[in-house]
Amino acid sequence: MSSSADVLAAGPAAPDPGRAAPARKLLIRTWGCQMNVYDSGRMADILAPLGYAPTERAEEADMVILNTCHIREKASEKVFSDLGRLRVTKNERRAGGKDTIIAVAGCVAQAEGAEITARAPWVDIVLGPQTYHRLPEMVARASRAAGAVIETDFPAEDKFDHLPETRGPSGPVAFLTIQEGCDKFCSFCVVPYTRGAEFSRPAAAVIAEARRLAAGGAREIVLLGQNVNAWAGEAPRTVSGGASPGGGWGLARLLRELAEIPGVARLRYTTSHPRDMGGDLIAAHGEIPALMPYLHLPVQSGSDRVLAAMNRGHGAELYLSLADRLRAARPDLALTSDFIVGHPGETAADHAATMRLVERVGFAGAYSFKYSARPGTPAAAQPGAVAEDVKDARLGELQALLRAQADAFNRALVGRTVDVLVTGAGRHPGQVAGRSPWLQPVHAPMASGGTAPVGAVVPMTLRAAHPNSLSATLVLPEETAAA
Ligand code: SAM
Ligand code: SF4
Repeated sequence: MSSSADVLAAGPAAPDPGRAAPARKLLIRTWGCQMNVYDSGRMADILAPLGYAPTERAEEADMVILNTCHIREKASEKVFSDLGRLRVTKNERRAGGKDTIIAVAGCVAQAEGAEITARAPWVDIVLGPQTYHRLPEMVARASRAAGAVIETDFPAEDKFDHLPETRGPSGPVAFLTIQEGCDKFCSFCVVPYTRGAEFSRPAAAVIAEARRLAAGGAREIVLLGQNVNAWAGEAPRTVSGGASPGGGWGLARLLRELAEIPGVARLRYTTSHPRDMGGDLIAAHGEIPALMPYLHLPVQSGSDRVLAAMNRGHGAELYLSLADRLRAARPDLALTSDFIVGHPGETAADHAATMRLVERVGFAGAYSFKYSARPGTPAAAQPGAVAEDVKDARLGELQALLRAQADAFNRALVGRTVDVLVTGAGRHPGQVAGRSPWLQPVHAPMASGGTAPVGAVVPMTLRAAHPNSLSATLVLPEETAAA
């Protein structure tokens, strides 16, 4: 692409604070997990000093970043259809004398690297999830160079040490990545290859980021990691400035510390692995009021044979006992999960075992997927592929049961008065929207005499359960007083 003197003048990593960077527009499209949502926010943070402000419109974007997901084939392919449309936009903008930098980030970038620019030569930058702290430098190089800039290594430096401080949450709910990568190598999964080895951020860095988020208005903080409950971070150094690190902390200890931060009303963490669900963390669910009664704990299958083929490292019995122990600690816990149907070798009896596990546990919600073979993963080479129509039938049966359980969970809450974190205006005029302790979206008419500012946790009485939300009414001050 032609060079942009403005980008070069702004300098790659440390723009001149005395000189405003020229105004530019940045569009980031995000697929996949919440960690990608967090990463997209951090990429926006790191590009803001170069003058990039967010836009939703590709036609006005000077830079477009597609932050991609490689977990299933469908998710990967969507990137290439989007790139096809962006080629047209880029050409139209060029005809009008404007450059557009197109970057592909995230797990497709990590997995496919130079393949992307071979298929879509109009892409300027390909960057993996571990290199986005180098974005300003890549932007400068892309503006100078004729060819694409590709950065998909796992650099020795810690990306978090090179990122600017978070610019604050965009609402009362904030994501905070505390752990990355995965060492578990489930047979079907690309994450260990695209995100690299397990890494836990030190406790002090997490606490400092949480404090900044709370000071900026976050009331609910969602801790993120591919294996978040495997988090094992360096403890903060002693206040006296003593040189020795205070040993390691586990997630339960971290949660206790974060719950003390002024302004933090709610904590959640996702996604967890059953093998890392220790006794102290289970106990934390009963002991930390700010820890919401919600846990996403993927099981994938209810068959021991399939769980072994998946290399999950546990059987159905462990999951069932975890569900019992968690509910003993926190009886109103909403348990949600992920399932894969049609893993190679899965029989009708294996599927029946999954259905039995679901019946036994009773989930408040779940994501369920047909197995999708991912190149380079062990399962892709395993025999016993399950026919597509069989996968469809099993998925349909599983989803019907999960849907019925979610509906029953939601209906059982109708009539109760619960705390709702107000997140903004509802879809209809005069409505407020928020989320319940169990993560359901809630909407309520803004009654006269009631107040529900964004970020407040207010009591609402749940009136009806819908497929994807709950409707409610605000509890007015006089009702609270009378109660
Ligand atoms: N670390 C989490 C765990 O261990 O459960 C899951 C992370 S993964 C990003 C999210 C979900 O995608 C998985 O729980 C699994 O159900 C699904 N998934 C991963 N690979 C898949 C594949 N090859 N085909 C279908 N679903 C897949
Ligand atoms: Fe993937 Fe398994 Fe690691 Fe989860 S635990 S990220 S499913 S390899």
